[in-house]
Amino acid sequence: MNIVLLGPPGVGKGTYAGRLSERYGIPHISTGDILREEIKRDSELGRKVKKYVERGELVPDSIIIEVIKERLAADDCRKGFILDGFPRTLNQARALDNIVRVDVVFNFVAPKEVIIERLSGRRICRKCGAIYHIRYKPPKKPGVCDICGGELYQREDDKPEVIERRLEVYKEQTAPLIDYYSKKGLLVDIDASKEVNEVIAQCERILRERGILK
Ligand code: ADP
Ligand code: AMP
Repeated sequence: MNIVLLGPPGVGKGTYAGRLSERYGIPHISTGDILREEIKRDSELGRKVKKYVERGELVPDSIIIEVIKERLAADDCRKGFILDGFPRTLNQARALDNIVRVDVVFNFVAPKEVIIERLSGRRICRKCGAIYHIRYKPPKKPGVCDICGGELYQREDDKPEVIERRLEVYKEQTAPLIDYYSKKGLLVDIDASKEVNEVIAQCERILRERGILK
């Protein structure tokens, strides 16, 4: 089950990946999470990518392709994986094709207003990375993670100035992948304006129809 999740920032990829990963026991690989972790650790990689992430620009292909190559070589990826946030350029998509077979690409679609509202209300647990929303998925106790008690924070790049730039970058550099995967017969549009359970149900229907999920 080698799944790629495509769609603009804030459409819900991390949320859906988390649910599918739990359900099917395959890893959720978010390049954004990996980079944020490296930045937090102030590693050599973290120091290299920080300025791009802060501005909402893409990290150079050469760097991110190395990161994903290493991650996909890990043992836990043998039964499959869910890629969230990779590939984001045509170069990355071609590189991925040289590393593994992709079974299906879910292209999550929602109106821009919905996406902006999701991004601006998003909160993340500093400790375990769980995803919340102040309106659609509020924690039981404000500012505190239901799962691990960690502190919730707003990502720097979820502030209005950076959100606009990230959406532009998506349109310019990532949206061409829709055509790329569509021509390969791998792309399936998913209506992500619905509530989370319904979005997941759409994904599972497709997995069954395509014989990816028995
Ligand atoms: P992405 O990984 O695509 O950037 P996230 O999974 O982090 O997006 O979701 C962005 C925000 O939208 C989060 O606050 C999440 O709780 C919320 N969200 C995700 N999917 C839905 C949905 N279908 N309905 C309402 N809110 C959602
Ligand atoms: P995300 O968590 O997916 O929204 O990613 C956060 C940021 O990490 C992006 O705005 C980019 O700066 C960087 N990033 C994540 N994935 C990639 C990728 N595949 N290629 C380039 N940059 C990436």
